[in-house]
Amino acid sequence: MWREAASGAQREVLDPADARPFATVAEGGTDDTDAAVAAARRAFDSGPWPTTPVAERAALLRRVADLLQRDREEIALIESRDTGKTLEEGRVDVDDVTNAFRYFADLVMNESGGRVVDAGSAAVHSVVVYEPVGVCALITPWNYPLLQASWKIAPALAAGNTFVVKPSEVTPLSTVHLVKLLVEAGLPAGVANLVTGAGVPVGQRLAEHPDVDLFSFTGGLASGTKAGAAAVAGAKKIALELGGKNPNVVFADACATEEGFDTAVDQALNAGFAHSGQVCSAGARLIVEESVSDRFVAELARRAEKIKLGRGTEEGVECGPLVSEQQLAKVEAYVTSALSEGAALRCGGSRPKPSKVRPEGGYFFSPTVLDQCHRGMRVVREETFGPIVTVETFRTEDEAVELANDTEYGLAGAVWTSDAGRARRVAGRLRHGTVWINDYHPYLPQAEWGGFGKSGIGRELGPAGLAEYRESKHIYQNLDPKAVRWFAG
Ligand code: NAD
Repeated sequence: MWREAASGAQREVLDPADARPFATVAEGGTDDTDAAVAAARRAFDSGPWPTTPVAERAALLRRVADLLQRDREEIALIESRDTGKTLEEGRVDVDDVTNAFRYFADLVMNESGGRVVDAGSAAVHSVVVYEPVGVCALITPWNYPLLQASWKIAPALAAGNTFVVKPSEVTPLSTVHLVKLLVEAGLPAGVANLVTGAGVPVGQRLAEHPDVDLFSFTGGLASGTKAGAAAVAGAKKIALELGGKNPNVVFADACATEEGFDTAVDQALNAGFAHSGQVCSAGARLIVEESVSDRFVAELARRAEKIKLGRGTEEGVECGPLVSEQQLAKVEAYVTSALSEGAALRCGGSRPKPSKVRPEGGYFFSPTVLDQCHRGMRVVREETFGPIVTVETFRTEDEAVELANDTEYGLAGAVWTSDAGRARRVAGRLRHGTVWINDYHPYLPQAEWGGFGKSGIGRELGPAGLAEYRESKHIYQNLDPKAVRWFAG
């Protein structure tokens, strides 16, 4: 059942390419959040979903995957207008999300349903079984709204939970569409609940609500740790997927051939500027061997200047705007502070002029390369979440590793080298949840995603991404009970 906010309040959703409203959604508050949690609680405590046979749950997930593909173009358009990303990026998101639903369907279907444990006696049958956690609160950010929601919703449903999802107030539309598809696929009433609205009060209320069993948050470090602390105060299970400040380490040997050089530069461009750098795993810190640094950075800046910036729905546009005025102002401030701290601007650094594909008022920022950076700079330490690549140099392998690990985060990183031994050595030493060797950005639904350090707590995707949504229960059955006589009387 869809309804307006109890207060009647609404929020306009802006198109970041022109800053104009193009949709409205209900602006939920505490009452709406409580109603959603109550519905999820009822559906968990008395509904059929937690005990629905695994084959039926998997079949529903597969129907959702098919519906996502049916609506691929429509969803890609929604995501493009809402977040600013290009249509092609939107299509990739829909395909990735489809794969995630199929993956979790396959995963639960291929499980044995429990684990028999040898208790050391033929008279004991001991088994560990896995059960849904209960009511899950799922909070998502604005950069990959559909994808982040799906990485939570698919395993939560596969495991038999009910949930309340709260998308970012900036980009709620694809999550609304996804919930409609869950209903169309036949999910029982009350299992999926959506509240659109702000972090405070909606997200905060979910973190504190006594009837929520699990709190899974993807977003920034500051809001994530605040909300996570509230959830922990209520002894909920928590999962936090937070930010990153990700190193992209390039050794000179990777650039020894023209083809190697071209590939490493191309991928550094992709690492730093895909989705205008608004990617938690963006390769925002280019750490390049000193001997090739000048050539590498000059070529990177030359190509960055050629990136076609514009409205994500326009033909030929390669990169969209930032998501909001606030994000644009934040990115600008990082450039200003970097320059005042001694960085050298190689390209970008400002808002580009409006053009046929870049409407007046859109939140565009030119891809920016800042050379001569060092670890003391704010722009190197903090997540800018914009199209800024900083450049640091190194001379030795040890120095490269030390620089790459010198961050409070630990989400992802890459190493570029033609030396197989070095590749494995460095990958082994990087303190990041995903390490790419001679690549950047790919991830697989079968492989865990998440971070070391302040990049978060827990993992999404892979078997661990399903385990987050389960409680384990040890059932110990004595087939031949006898008195133990621990007490003499
Ligand atoms: P954000 O932290 O501002 O908001 C994320 C979500 O939290 C939104 O839905 C917001 O409404 C909600 N929220 C805000 N304050 C809250 C509170 N006090 N209690 C509960 N909920 C609250 O993040 P953002 O700006 O939307 O997204 C960008 C951030 O997300 C970046 O830091 C990025 O690295 C991170 N991110 C991480 C991953 C990952 O996989 N680790 C993926 C995507 C984005």
